[in-house]
Amino acid sequence: MNATLERYNTFILDVDGVLVKGDEPIPGAREALRMLKEHGQVILLTNNSTRSRLQTAHRLSSLGFPVSPEDVVTSSYVAARYLLEEFGPRKVWVIGEEGLAEELAAAGHALMPPREAEWIVAGMDRNLTYGKLAQALTGLLAGARFLATNRDATFPTPQGLLPGAGAVVGAIQGMGFPPEQVVGKPSAIAFRIALEVAGGSAKAALMVGDRLETDILGAQRAGLDTALVLTGVSRLQDVTRLGIRPTWVAEGLPALARGEMASP
Ligand SMILES: [Mg+2]
Repeated sequence: MNATLERYNTFILDVDGVLVKGDEPIPGAREALRMLKEHGQVILLTNNSTRSRLQTAHRLSSLGFPVSPEDVVTSSYVAARYLLEEFGPRKVWVIGEEGLAEELAAAGHALMPPREAEWIVAGMDRNLTYGKLAQALTGLLAGARFLATNRDATFPTPQGLLPGAGAVVGAIQGMGFPPEQVVGKPSAIAFRIALEVAGGSAKAALMVGDRLETDILGAQRAGLDTALVLTGVSRLQDVTRLGIRPTWVAEGLPALARGEMASP
C-alpha cells in the first residue's frame, strides 16, 4: 500500500462517475474497490434517492462490484435516519421513487396521505406530475414540514443529463415552500451518517468523488480529506474556476487505489 493511502483507514466513495457511468462499470474500478476494501472500511455514499441501500447494492453487485447493503449510504437512507434521530418515527408523505419510501418505512416512519403527514420528503421522481405537486401543496398548507434528500440539478445517464431531485425540490420551492433541511451531499449530515456507518473518524477518512460542489465541498466542511477523480463531472480546470481545492486529484479510482494521487 502506498504511503499516501496509509494515512487513511476509511474510504467514502461516491458512486456515479467514480465506480460507474450509467450502467457501465468504469474500467478498473471493480479491482480498485477490492484493493481499497483490503486496506480499510469502504462506504459508498450516493445522492441517488430513487434506490434503497438494498437496491443500490444489488445493482452494483450485478455489475461485478463487491458491495453489500451495509456498505451503502443513499440520500434516501440519510433522510430516513435523520428524521428518526432528530424527531423520532414520523408520519411522512413521499414525492419521489420507491427506494425513498422503502427506506422511510424501514426506519419506522409511517407513510400517510399528504394531509395527514408531518413531513413531506422529496427525492428525484421520474414520474413527477402536476397532480403530485398539488398533493404536496395540500400537505404543506396543512402544516407539514419539508425535507429534501438532495438538490442535485441533474442526473447523468448514458443518454445525457436528466432532471435530478433539484427539479422536484425546485418545483415545491416555487410554490412558496423552500426545504427546511437538505440532507444529501453537500450537507454535513450525509458525511456524518456515512462516517457513523463506517465506524470511522473524520481524521482517518478520505472522501472520493467526481463533483467538486457536492462531494468535495461537503466533505471539506465535514472535516474530511478529499480526492477528486477525473472520471465523472468535474475537470481539473474546475478546481481553479470554482475555487474548491481537494486534498488530492487522481485520474480515477484505479490510480487512487495504487496511490497515484497528486496535490492539485
Ligand atoms: Mg458522482
